[in-house]
Order: sequence, then C-alpha cells, then structure tokens
Amino acid sequence: MDGNKYSMMIIKEPWELDVMRTAGGKLAEVFHYVSSLILPGISTEEIDKIAEAKIISLGAIPILKGYRVGEKEFPCATCISINEEVVHGIPSKRILQDSDLVSLDISLAYNGYHSDMAVTIAMPHADFALKNFIQNTEECLRVGILSARQSNRIGDIGHNIELAAKNLNLGIVTSFVGHGIGRSLHEEPPVPNFGKAGTGFLLKPGMVLAIEPMLSIGSSEIEILQDGWTAVTKDKSMSAHFEHTVAITAGGPRILTK
Ligand code: MG
Repeated sequence: MDGNKYSMMIIKEPWELDVMRTAGGKLAEVFHYVSSLILPGISTEEIDKIAEAKIISLGAIPILKGYRVGEKEFPCATCISINEEVVHGIPSKRILQDSDLVSLDISLAYNGYHSDMAVTIAMPHADFALKNFIQNTEECLRVGILSARQSNRIGDIGHNIELAAKNLNLGIVTSFVGHGIGRSLHEEPPVPNFGKAGTGFLLKPGMVLAIEPMLSIGSSEIEILQDGWTAVTKDKSMSAHFEHTVAITAGGPRILTK
C-alpha cells in the first residue's frame, strides 16, 4: 500500500506524540501476542481472526480491513505473505508449513492516529541461510531507523538501507516504499528503500515515518497475483519485510511500535 496522496502531519503537541506512542505500543502488543501463535499447522485465516480480535480488545481499529486502493478493498485485518510473497498477502485457509517464511504486516488506528509494523518469522525448519536472510533484513531496517534524524533527508534513509542491502547481496523491492504516518495510514513523504544521500524531504522533529525494507534473496522485480493484492517476487525467490513506525525527535529517532 503505497498511497501518498495525503500531506504530511507534523506533531507539534506533546500529547499527539503520546497518542502515537500509545497506538504503537498497542500494535507491538498485538505482534507479541500473535507471533507466539505463528507455528506450522495454523492457517493464515486463523492468525488474522486472532489478530483482529486482539486489536479490538485493545480499543483500537483494525484499519486494514476495508482499506481501499482505487476500486479494491482489502478484505482482512492483517496482511500475511508467505515465502516468495513480498507484501499484501490475503489471509486464507492456507496452512503454514514447517519451513515457511511468514511475513506479518498489521496497521491499526487508535484515537485517530495510526501505527504500522511488519515482521518476518521463520518456521522452525526453515533453511539456516533463510533465517540469516531474515536477520539481515531486520538489520537493514535498523540502519534505516538510525538514519531518521533531524537535518538528514529522506534520501539518506533510502541510501543507507540500499548500501546495507547491497553489501548483503540482497534484492531491494522498489515497487513499494515506506511512508509518512499520523492521522492517515499513508501520508507524505514516500520513504523508498533506495536513494541518493542528501536528497529529498528534509527531516524535522515531529515527523513520523513508517520505514519498511522489503528485500529478496533474488530478483527485486515483483508481480501481482490474480487476487489483485498479493505481490510476489518475479523469480519466486524468498522475501522478507520488517517495518517500524518511527518518530523523529530532537533526541534522535524513536521507535513507536515497541
Ligand atoms: Mg507500511
């Protein structure tokens, strides 16, 4: 979901950052709860139902359900993408196998503010090299977050993620990008996982960004399946996705989805 039709919200009031931190904390709690259930034998539909119930029990709104892009409406509360699926997989009766890579991407709204997070989890018998790949993708997110500092620019975040991914010999999916987040799920500016240092939007305290490298062990090209949503790598190579909602503060980047 790469909508960037909205202008960027800048947090001026401390209470707004507090609400966004609360929203992020609730989303982190959903991930903590749901991650422990992601095991071989469960269907992605079951995971989705449990996540949706958890979001509602925390007083938040499962904002992905019914999320519109043009004529399409996303049918579930979570995106669950397996193996070569990069993002926007639709939960179904598909049962997790013991060597799968499972990417879970969830957004919620709380008191009018949004939060967005994703993780990839390896099933117990996934190849060791794939487990390593997942760790490396998370490391690329960490590099991106450390670049989200005042006086840096959006291009610095992308440039540093790109450098890290290339050093690790990983493909960068360029068709999807991170985004500003706040009163809307997708705000300006787009936050690509590639770019030129020192270019683009100037970062200032009060901006909140969803930073989300989507990487593959092969091709960076994707195609969309017939369901209209699921993005898969063109060469069917394995993919991983990590995302945090991050506030830029005078004291440095602050991860809100914690
Ligand atoms: Mg996102």
